[in-house]
Amino acid sequence: MEFYYILSREVKYNNWILNLEHPKRRVMPEYAHLVCDRCGKVDEVAAIRSGIRADIRIRGSVDFLRSSEGLTLFSERARESLKTKQIAGLEFIAVGTSGYYVALPKRFATVNVAVSTMKFQRKCQKCSRFRETTGFPSRDSMKLPRNPRLIVAPDVFLERYYSRTFVYVVSSLVQDVFATNGLTGAIFDEV
Ligand SMILES: [Zn+2]
Repeated sequence: MEFYYILSREVKYNNWILNLEHPKRRVMPEYAHLVCDRCGKVDEVAAIRSGIRADIRIRGSVDFLRSSEGLTLFSERARESLKTKQIAGLEFIAVGTSGYYVALPKRFATVNVAVSTMKFQRKCQKCSRFRETTGFPSRDSMKLPRNPRLIVAPDVFLERYYSRTFVYVVSSLVQDVFATNGLTGAIFDEV
């Protein structure tokens, strides 16, 4: 079976969901209690689960995109298309009334870090997150699902200076769903 990283084609607009649009990307005050006081990163999953601001609007004209802090967003149409084909593994949380959903992983692929070809910089001694990572887990470092209807996230997170980038591995079946439904914005990069 072929697997792909589903990546965002283009980030045309700034779409902040958890952070204020600010040169220093300050996290919104309602999430301040979820910020690690050592490295300054917010626990993105806990923040999303605690509630996304109702007035957030997503600027974008595609079905799949990435927020400025690295969250993945699916349009209503994309979410429905995946649901119709019984594609599982993601949880969708509505972003206000914008018609977009933040995806959170429900299923993970175990990564053998030793053979992942990733590089890691400075682990936070408090929350254990890395300051930054480079690269993606290689195919042979991941235990990928046999079920092509399952979308998984590597269990080693990709980190940037301020935030985590959410990445997902999908099968060619998911790529077909995007193609046959004319869903836009995604690049499928072979794992
Ligand atoms: Zn930390």
